Amino acid sequence: MSIEIIKDKCIGCGRCFKVCPGTLISLGSDGKAEIKRPERCWGCTSCLKECPVQAIEMFLGEDIGGLGGRLTVCREQHLLHWKVRLPDGKETTITVDSRNSNKY
Ligand code: SF4
Ligand code: SF4
Repeated sequence: MSIEIIKDKCIGCGRCFKVCPGTLISLGSDGKAEIKRPERCWGCTSCLKECPVQAIEMFLGEDIGGLGGRLTVCREQHLLHWKVRLPDGKETTITVDSRNSNKY
């Protein structure tokens, strides 16, 4: 399980560095975020939720029951839109109200 940082989208804001519990992300010499040891990522999704420009994607491989798709998260105030894009182009979006995340 790992993430990929889409360099063309990254604005170098540093939010992902601050939230990664494994300090796996840093600023590269090009001013963009980079992950040096992607095999150490345990997929907590904190960086995805924090990135303001959806520059971070999580690969949904067979190891986690995925189908080779990509997960991105778009934050809209208290709403989180979780979007899965499959290799065939199909997309599914689930919206969660972050105020209810610890409700149950
Ligand atoms: S998913 Fe979690 S562990 Fe992996 S890079 Fe992002 S914040 Fe770090
Ligand atoms: S949060 Fe997103 S835009 Fe900001 S540095 Fe990380 S990848 Fe780049």
